[in-house]
Amino acid sequence: MAQNGLELTPYWHLSPPDAKDIPVGVCVIQCDASHKKGIHGTGVLIKFKDKEFSLRGRSGRSKGPVQAELIAIKNGFIELKKAMNTRAITQVLIYSDNSCACDLINRVMTPHLKHIIETTQEIQEIISQHEHNGIKVHVQYTRARNQKRVDRRAAREREEAEKKVDSNKQKRIERISSANERSKSVHIIARNGTYYASSTNGGPLFKVCIDPPSCECAHWQNKYSGKPPYVLARASPCLHICALANYLGADILEIFDKQINRVN
Ligand SMILES: [Zn+2]
Repeated sequence: MAQNGLELTPYWHLSPPDAKDIPVGVCVIQCDASHKKGIHGTGVLIKFKDKEFSLRGRSGRSKGPVQAELIAIKNGFIELKKAMNTRAITQVLIYSDNSCACDLINRVMTPHLKHIIETTQEIQEIISQHEHNGIKVHVQYTRARNQKRVDRRAAREREEAEKKVDSNKQKRIERISSANERSKSVHIIARNGTYYASSTNGGPLFKVCIDPPSCECAHWQNKYSGKPPYVLARASPCLHICALANYLGADILEIFDKQINRVN
């Protein structure tokens, strides 16, 4: 049955066909994403005539649900590349239950945010490449109820990724708490509103500050001084910064809250 130049089964525009109903030469890909607080999981299901691949899941970082859905579609193409090596394909039908993602890729909607523009363009380039190779690609919206299996896979991937992020957060808290414990051997000296730190056995004085965190010690200087924001976003305090926080009655875990709670 021809529709929009595609040889497909009836009702393909409403819901993804079963493998038995897919014509030879057509690949059906169902993509879905699950997004929460910057972390996403994606699920991809690839089907050919009489052949259904096992569900593929991935996880990553994204800025909101639409980008996550776009990434799920991009992941669909990555899985397709692996699956198509021995098959002659003339058409690819991609399903997403996010109408916004479909409209962006199909150029019905214009993206405005940088991350959405970039991800949309990446997918459009992949599609152009396929079309250049004689493979017609169609991105089709379908209702969420037709995507339950891929949706569950996406949610599972996201949950796993969240667990990993939580465990990393816990490790950061432990590392900072341990530094905080060891910082008790550091003395703070206040001079005209400026703070200096020295070890109990004398040694050099380091100018130290908590807002924003900085220290003259070799550790902080080598790792973080003058470094770009993405490095500072991953910073962990030296003993002197911990000692000054304690001296001023501030909570070192609160000062490094963003670094501790980062998702990547
Ligand atoms: Zn220091």
